[in-house]
Amino acid sequence: MMMKILAILNNRCPNCEKGSIFDKDRGLINLSIPKMNKTCPSCGFQFVKETGFFYGAMYVSYALTVAEGFIWFLIGYFLLGLSLMTNFLIIAAIALLLSRFNFKISRTIWIYIFYKQH
Ligand SMILES: [Zn+2]
Repeated sequence: MMMKILAILNNRCPNCEKGSIFDKDRGLINLSIPKMNKTCPSCGFQFVKETGFFYGAMYVSYALTVAEGFIWFLIGYFLLGLSLMTNFLIIAAIALLLSRFNFKISRTIWIYIFYKQH
């Protein structure tokens, strides 16, 4: 279970948990859409099932963004005592900074949801 969580956080293939689902990131701050491998470089597992397969991953991404914003809000508003406006600006910045992370993790989670062990 712990290994599975680590594999998901590192965007690893659900089949071998070694191959990377996405191309290596270049630079720390990069806001372009991450490039996805079609198949696992390690075991050849096919990541993209059919066109539109990842539409549902947008819901995962949305839920993550809301959860991250909410967590920040609890910290910023209650712990740090920041104003509502400041909190909203910070939440918008966090959503932007985490957008690539959310994009990748939501697709990875989506792949894991539909992955069936043979
Ligand atoms: Zn693999």
